[in-house]
Amino acid sequence: MTGLKKNSGGGSNKGRRVCVVGGGLGGLAAALAFARSGAQVQVFEQAPQITEVGAGIQVTPNGARVLAALGLDDQLAAQSIVATAVEPMDAVSGQPVTRFDLSHLDGPPYRFFHRAALISVLMAGCAAAGVQVHTGARIDGDLPDGDLIIGAEGVKSQIRARLNGADDPFFTGQVAWRAVVDLPDADPVARIWMAPRRHVVTYPLPGGRLNIVAVQERKQWAAEGWNHADDAGNLRQAYRGISGRLRGILEQVEDVSLWGLFRHPVAPVWHQGNIAILGDAAHPTLPFLAQGANLAFEDAYVLARTCDGTDDIATALATYQALRRARVQRAISTANANATKYHLSGVSRRVAHLSLRGMGVVAPNAFLGRLDWLYGYDVTA
Ligand SMILES: Cc1cc2nc3c(=O)[nH]c(=O)nc-3n(C[C@H](O)[C@H](O)[C@H](O)COP(=O)(O)OP(=O)(O)OC[C@H]3O[C@@H](n4cnc5c(N)ncnc54)[C@H](O)[C@@H]3O)c2cc1C
Repeated sequence: MTGLKKNSGGGSNKGRRVCVVGGGLGGLAAALAFARSGAQVQVFEQAPQITEVGAGIQVTPNGARVLAALGLDDQLAAQSIVATAVEPMDAVSGQPVTRFDLSHLDGPPYRFFHRAALISVLMAGCAAAGVQVHTGARIDGDLPDGDLIIGAEGVKSQIRARLNGADDPFFTGQVAWRAVVDLPDADPVARIWMAPRRHVVTYPLPGGRLNIVAVQERKQWAAEGWNHADDAGNLRQAYRGISGRLRGILEQVEDVSLWGLFRHPVAPVWHQGNIAILGDAAHPTLPFLAQGANLAFEDAYVLARTCDGTDDIATALATYQALRRARVQRAISTANANATKYHLSGVSRRVAHLSLRGMGVVAPNAFLGRLDWLYGYDVTA
């Protein structure tokens, strides 16, 4: 099987005409992975330009291995902050519950990015590898003509519906405010500020900024559309009664958007004929394990490699789904469980915090050891 790490081509992808529908993080990673193994790749993106929401994103070692294998390591290092720890916090007292040191993780570091910077690095990689990107190119109904069509159009994917039947994404009972504030010299730590029925994640971004995702449980999502600009006062109101330290951060928020968090179950069918789906199109997840994009990067690499290994696309696509489905299901279940763990109240909250604290003292690496299956996984091996 041709290694995708080298820009040599030579396997079954050489000369293949690959059309990627959707130019998000997953689609661009797939485009680059196929182009680097010799395919002729076109990306069709509905938006007038390839861009991302003005927020941060965490790339964990499992996703970073893919980006490194695609030759992007140096550019990524220049555009990101290396995370040193994850700190679960008691949002009410403002005190750390424990600290998980990330310096023991194997492989490329856990990093924080501006989404726009990550997209730019992927776009530059795609341009250098000869990928043709068509913007303002919404694919509706008829699919483009190619040897392989990849549906990477996110949670509203029509190609997912074509393979699995139409079903509307469901509201997960969670909303998330997203904001970025100035905070020069913030330490390179992801903090999870846990409070009853809500939590906030903060981490620094290059340029002296701090990324904020503030989640709250809600019964319904009543607004039109999936996100809208909101009043920062609503965010602060949702977090009244929390520690001064976190309140001080939320006081700085001026512009904020509110997102309804929707998802589908993991798609039963990821391929049919010469069509495959990946990323959020196949398996949207709650963001409580920071894995949606990381899993999409893994999908992209595995899909390109399995296709490179055989002239029989149908066999390659079946192998791709077989290699990926159980893993993404496990990651999504873990993210769902985090929603419960982060939002505990009363006695169960006190017990959970005590146990986390105890684990941090007695066996500081045990928590990360439990995530070896996630962060330690190397799809490029
Ligand atoms: C609050 C929040 C925080 C998150 N934090 C993290 C994190 O730290 N780490 C992480 O790994 N993940 C995170 N995620 C998840 C991550 O953002 C997504 O899983 C990831 O962006 C999905 O990428 P994708 O390419 O599959 O889909 P998308 O990013 O949704 O891209 C789909 C693209 O397809 C285009 N498109 C749609 N329909 C069509 C069509 N018919 N024709 C042409 N183009 C079309 C869209 O315009 C879009 O550009 C977070 C998510 C949220 C909501």
